[in-house]
Amino acid sequence: MFDYVLIQEQKIPVIAGADIVIAGGGPAGIGAAIAASREGARVVLVERMFCLGGTMTSGLVSKIAISHRNRGIAAELLERLDRYQGTSFIQSRPEVPVDPELTKLLLDKMLIDEAGVDVRFGMTIVQVVKEARRINAVIVSGLNGFEAIRAKYFVDCTGDGQMSFLAGAAYMLGDEEGGLGSAPSLLFRVAHVDMNKFLDSCQEDEETYQSDHARHSPQEARELYHSDRYVFFANYMPLVRRRIEENPQMFSEWERKVLTTRGLIFLNQPQSGVILVNSTRILGFHGNDAAELSNALVNGRRQVETIFRFMKTFLPGFENSIIMDTGSMLGIRESRRVVGDYVFSENDVSGDTRYGDAVVSNSGGIEIHSSTGSGLKGSHLGKDEYYHIPYRSIIVRDFDNLFVAGRCFSAAHPALSAARSIACCIALGEAAGSAGTQLAKNQKTNVRDIDIHALQEKLTNIL
Ligand SMILES: Cc1cc2nc3c(=O)[nH]c(=O)nc-3n(C[C@H](O)[C@H](O)[C@H](O)COP(=O)(O)OP(=O)(O)OC[C@H]3O[C@@H](n4cnc5c(N)ncnc54)[C@H](O)[C@@H]3O)c2cc1C
Repeated sequence: MFDYVLIQEQKIPVIAGADIVIAGGGPAGIGAAIAASREGARVVLVERMFCLGGTMTSGLVSKIAISHRNRGIAAELLERLDRYQGTSFIQSRPEVPVDPELTKLLLDKMLIDEAGVDVRFGMTIVQVVKEARRINAVIVSGLNGFEAIRAKYFVDCTGDGQMSFLAGAAYMLGDEEGGLGSAPSLLFRVAHVDMNKFLDSCQEDEETYQSDHARHSPQEARELYHSDRYVFFANYMPLVRRRIEENPQMFSEWERKVLTTRGLIFLNQPQSGVILVNSTRILGFHGNDAAELSNALVNGRRQVETIFRFMKTFLPGFENSIIMDTGSMLGIRESRRVVGDYVFSENDVSGDTRYGDAVVSNSGGIEIHSSTGSGLKGSHLGKDEYYHIPYRSIIVRDFDNLFVAGRCFSAAHPALSAARSIACCIALGEAAGSAGTQLAKNQKTNVRDIDIHALQEKLTNIL
């Protein structure tokens, strides 16, 4: 018998009522909120952090994977960021680096000032009030203690499926054998890098700076870097191994393992002399335990310290560099995936998957980051290939007025790895927000009463 405390029944003040409550303001949440608000719904968005963007801003995943065909809110966001920054990074599709700080500012404008979304920062959804298959309200915890928000429809965009979990909905975790999902990473940015000096070294000494994962020649990297394009710098494993061998006292066994798990992986950012480092990997992470999450962040920051020390010591151009920031959220690729009416499957990730109730077309391939070692398993679709994601995978099987969008949508482990990109999460959110608005306007009480053709006409990301 474990220890426990009892809480007394409490009267919780209702602070707002809405057509749609959106849980979480990451990519899926912003897509859902903008779509619903623009179509005339009264929308409240609850976000536990103090800015919008989720993993894209607080988690520093400041590079958006977006297909050339995306015409939705993700494309709009990138075009506006370019105007804001005076850059032309949109031409770098399908991979577009963004500035997470400007993204936060722009998202406030787009959601609060323009779309009129009622955004509540610093509030965590801690409980739901439900009756059979309906959710009536969410309980939020913030500076005022517990408060309630009522709505007709709810969209779980928490990434972790937290709202559905609190409601008691079924969820999936890890791979099909009951194992682990894709590993998380803690991202960090490094500033004051002399990129020209680093690029010179790569060009002058190709042998030292060779990589098992190189996507560009040193000359191409230089050209891309100077023309507002995404540049993938990775992973310099021969250099890492050699410097470790030459300096046996410099790194502990744990640090050597950290450095040789992924090597050095980084990319350019819109600001000159700033890079985003994606080299850490947290092994053995399940994604549904608070203590595990806390330990993972501490582990991630220790890895950051080691990786940065290596870079500053051994990479030309990094002599004066500093750690600019580390993610305020762990970069979680996969945690709970809520069971919907349909589970989007690995077989669906192919060029010929078509559904009559499609709400998103996506062209991402599978990308599974090993949770037990250094591996990466992947597949690619051809240039013009895409698959459909059906409406049934964004409605929660166990409830009548609950949607789920973003990385916690109803997908099998490999299938999620193909559909978790930021633009796809935004598009899944758009679909849920737009669907909830149609249902609320038509006074329907069940997500399954959708007029799917009317919904599809509103959505911009179905081919
Ligand atoms: C290391 C890493 C690298 C990646 N690289 C890329 C890439 O290069 N390009 C790309 O496009 N995608 C990439 N991705 C994927 C992408 O970043 C995520 O899949 C995407 O951000 C998920 O969006 P989301 O809205 O579903 O969830 P999240 O971004 O996790 O947002 C969820 C939001 O909900 C909030 N929340 C959670 N619980 C509650 C609660 N109880 N109450 C209130 N608020 C709550 C959180 O604070 C957060 O703001 C990467 C992901 C990781 C982790």
